[in-house]
Amino acid sequence: MSSVGVSQKGVRRLSAGHPWVFLDDLRRRSDTPESPAAVAVVGPNGELLGEGWFNPRTKLALRLVTRAETKITPELIAARLRASARLRRPFEADFEGFRVVHSDADGLPGLTVDRYGEVLVLQQHAAALEPWVPLVVETLTVLYRPRGILARNTSPVRALEGLPQETTVLAGSVPERVPFREGDVTLFAAPYTGQKTGAFLDQRENHVYAGDHVRGRALDVFSYHGGFALQLARRADEVLAVDSSAAALAELERGAAENGPALAGRVATRRGDAFEVLRELVRAGERFGTVVVDPPAFAKSRAHVPRALAGYRELNVQALKLLEVGGRLFTASCSHFVGDAAFEEMLTSAAQDAGRRLRVLARRGAAACHPELLGLPESRYLTFMGLEVAEVYG
Ligand code: SAH
Repeated sequence: MSSVGVSQKGVRRLSAGHPWVFLDDLRRRSDTPESPAAVAVVGPNGELLGEGWFNPRTKLALRLVTRAETKITPELIAARLRASARLRRPFEADFEGFRVVHSDADGLPGLTVDRYGEVLVLQQHAAALEPWVPLVVETLTVLYRPRGILARNTSPVRALEGLPQETTVLAGSVPERVPFREGDVTLFAAPYTGQKTGAFLDQRENHVYAGDHVRGRALDVFSYHGGFALQLARRADEVLAVDSSAAALAELERGAAENGPALAGRVATRRGDAFEVLRELVRAGERFGTVVVDPPAFAKSRAHVPRALAGYRELNVQALKLLEVGGRLFTASCSHFVGDAAFEEMLTSAAQDAGRRLRVLARRGAAACHPELLGLPESRYLTFMGLEVAEVYG
């Protein structure tokens, strides 16, 4: 196997538990490949540090797959996939949609695989993974017996790796619209055209949690296909779902109907910009017992954090103004760069602005099928808080 060298700084990073080394901290050796490949990773004194995916064409050039003695072999890749399946087995009773493989945390950097009922949707974000894709497909077929496997390779990250944008059926057949059960509700994924791999599985436990703790009339802002809205509709008096995407709301309405007329009868949709709709609802003096705010990631890099926090703040101030005493706010950020502490600080300040004293019901993160890798802070990105209005003042 070819190899790449790591500088002293890179070694310190790896020793601290981080599995990535950037191009600046890598050193070319006589057998270092010119194109993406699996490589042995060697320290400044010739010591073997492990093996990983290497791509000399991108800044995030090395992602460690194994440390020291273990080697990247077909057996290792298959064993990692089997271990990832074992970890998810406990969810299978309640959820037909969950992430089957979560990149570095499952020891397969750059690979994510989501399961929606009978369908698997794969995303490949590391060029060096390419030769292993057939083995991944073969092993997943044995593990899950899917009706079809789709490669939804349209993430912008792929351009950095020099990989093309493409959506390809890798095995069997994959329909446009795939139902999957999430607790007591059936949701629908759009694997070819939807966001991410077709739905938002990282919030699945939070969807159910919010549904279990809903009060009165509910508002779901940034609803997409209704991951929250349909769960809220199980117990809420009524639910208003707001999104800027007509396609997302059409799917939400269709999904609500397929959960039966009683549930569908409690769900209404409104297309619009979340910031504007919230302000209009406040101006109109509307009141809700529950508000969910689940925007897309506002900060894609550290430089965007101040602007992102201003956006989150504005949304949460307006959302809080819609709540009376006893009302509940379920609010999330999926920006890794914002982090739990800044998000909580922002909420504290939003509460002051809205004149609401809040008690914390829950602090939660991404669903258990999206495990974090200790030592890789980038794998921690989702903050979810449940808050209850204790007092209205000012
Ligand atoms: N809550 C959803 C996921 C939301 S994803 C779930 O748990 O399943 C973010 C959604 O926000 C997308 O559907 C997108 O169409 C919508 N969106 C993005 N910007 C928006 C804006 N300014 N106003 C309203 N919706 C917006």
